[in-house]
Amino acid sequence: MSRLAVENLDARHGLLRAVRDVSFAVAEGDIFALVGANGAGKTTLLRTIAGAHKPAGGRVLFDGVDITAVSAHKRVAMGVALVPEGRRLFPSMTVEENLLVAGAVRRPGPWNVKTVLEAFPLLGPRLKAPALNLSGGERQAAAIGRALMTNPRILLLDEVSLGLAPVAVDAVYRSLQTLIKSGTTILLVEQDLNRAITVASRIACMLEGRIQLEGKAGTLTREQITEAYFGLRREPSAERTA
Ligand code: ATP
Repeated sequence: MSRLAVENLDARHGLLRAVRDVSFAVAEGDIFALVGANGAGKTTLLRTIAGAHKPAGGRVLFDGVDITAVSAHKRVAMGVALVPEGRRLFPSMTVEENLLVAGAVRRPGPWNVKTVLEAFPLLGPRLKAPALNLSGGERQAAAIGRALMTNPRILLLDEVSLGLAPVAVDAVYRSLQTLIKSGTTILLVEQDLNRAITVASRIACMLEGRIQLEGKAGTLTREQITEAYFGLRREPSAERTA
């Protein structure tokens, strides 16, 4: 059974169909990357999975249970954690306080302040600093750490590298490798194709709200992914090679 399955999902902003008939499944331990250009619908899809955006149709299944009507808060308690675009932390609270805030919805599991600091060593010296004093990379690490504190069964990451200097992106991705090794299931939105191809076990490419291409990272060629990313060749959503 899949950790997460999305079936014929539709999501709108008013009349705009931002997510159109999207179906895919994420298995336990997968690093599933959603790629696509600006406005393709990736953020809306991720927010709909997290329960932050109400779908117009279709279903979201978590460990086989239909959670489409479950509130965002309850989804966190079930093990669905979203790190939203923009790394929203409580600015006047310290890094440590931001991490501990997640304690209210904490599930049992390996993640606590100590293990988060082991995965994100750059946060160690900044633990007592207010979040507003952090660099972009530190803020991203703290936002991921805060989501990990809930001990999620799936981590939804929106645009980890957005607005970060390359060196900060490298640091965040190095830490993601630690999570990946620990077996955390991750659904990741990424505009940077090279990063996605390097880190993901599966890749889905979105264009204008639809999944254009989906498959195992090792079996899709860079050319196929680039074509789907830019919409150079229209094909139905399909497992072409995996
Ligand atoms: P980006 O990388 O720019 O965040 P994306 O692939 O995540 O892009 P979305 O942010 O999901 O795409 O946007 C999908 C479509 O929905 C776009 O046309 C966008 O303009 C529109 N949209 C997104 N949020 C809203 C909103 N709050 N109100 C109205 N339209 C929106």
